[in-house]
Amino acid sequence: MNLLEKIDAAATARIALLPNGVGAFGIPIEEVYSATEARIGDRRVLLLGTNNYLGLTFAPECIQAAHEAIDKEGTGTTGSRMANGSYFGHRALEREFADFYQCSSSIVFTTGYQANLGTISGLVGPGDTVLIDGDSHASIYDGCILSGADIIRFKHNDAADMEKRLRRLGNRVETTLIIAEGIYSMLGDQAPLAEIVRLKNQYGCILLLDEAHSLGVLGETGQGLVEKTGLLKEVDFITGTFSKSLCSIGGFCVSNHPQLEQLRYISHPYIFTASPSPATIASTRAALELLRNGSHLRKQLWNNCTQLYSTLKEVGYELGPDPGPVIAAVVDTPQQALLLWQRLLEHNIYVNLILPPAAPEGKSLVRCSVNAAHTRDQIQYVGDTFTKLFKELN
Ligand code: PMP
Repeated sequence: MNLLEKIDAAATARIALLPNGVGAFGIPIEEVYSATEARIGDRRVLLLGTNNYLGLTFAPECIQAAHEAIDKEGTGTTGSRMANGSYFGHRALEREFADFYQCSSSIVFTTGYQANLGTISGLVGPGDTVLIDGDSHASIYDGCILSGADIIRFKHNDAADMEKRLRRLGNRVETTLIIAEGIYSMLGDQAPLAEIVRLKNQYGCILLLDEAHSLGVLGETGQGLVEKTGLLKEVDFITGTFSKSLCSIGGFCVSNHPQLEQLRYISHPYIFTASPSPATIASTRAALELLRNGSHLRKQLWNNCTQLYSTLKEVGYELGPDPGPVIAAVVDTPQQALLLWQRLLEHNIYVNLILPPAAPEGKSLVRCSVNAAHTRDQIQYVGDTFTKLFKELN
């Protein structure tokens, strides 16, 4: 089989898994009306399949900042910061992230994916070890592969299993990086950070926490799980993305270790790619300001999350253990998930369909992302529709 035939074979296997489900991935969104509504085909749908947790995609402050940046600095930087220079906005945003996390150093990357790739491959290399949660995001896996370090996985959110593996490492713990996530994107559950911190201190490792889904969502000022648990000072490196609560595109890493600064000179995902555009940086800076002062948005978000989570739970859906903006109904087969997903779309509700191997433990998911801009009525309608479909489909 040649290279192209191998791709054809993989495509055939994928289509055979779910013959009617092909259109469920990369669905065309024709028009976006607001943070909560868009048009798919000829349907006006409710958006529950975005990561727009604080509902800021149309925040006037962010839109105006982006407009002004385009007018002043143009549409793109057309090169990497290392070769072509750092704009004022890149440096300002780094200072603002460092200030937000009370850290001495901060690096802005072009995407959150690259923030993980760049940080992990900068921190560890061949001969070192990464100890990661089995349900880690692909950017964490890819960062580990890029680094050339030995990859050891512990059972998802299982500190006892993590300790077992730490014990086996012997004196290799000294060059071990532990990686976890604030909120896991599939089931919306949170890492047992207190136990992870206790173990990383006991064994003398370095800890990286990806707050991609928890930034803006958890903690009084939205720092994430580090703030909710009061463990900010215990985590060595925090990465995150601008593509969720901050409603743009880009990523960051913050730390109190001065060595973070050196990653600018060794980390390929930082050096060999163009820097974020002026408009992206400007809207992110405006969004970070709104996020930091956004306790009213977080309150609204949590009202919505708890309302939908408790409705789905009461009806009988199997959900992840922690209420939050990621609410995933777990079903046994891809066919069941597709049917529920299609029926929701027929009721003008757009959610995410997640099939194996992306979903944990061979299950399939119909995943909702709740945001602060959803109204009580919208959340009520989504809850009522899920309730009706549970009765119809079971
Ligand atoms: N980390 C996690 C946990 C994520 O879920 C994602 C995006 N889905 C990323 C990193 C990458 O973020 P970005 O979209 O900015 O590349």
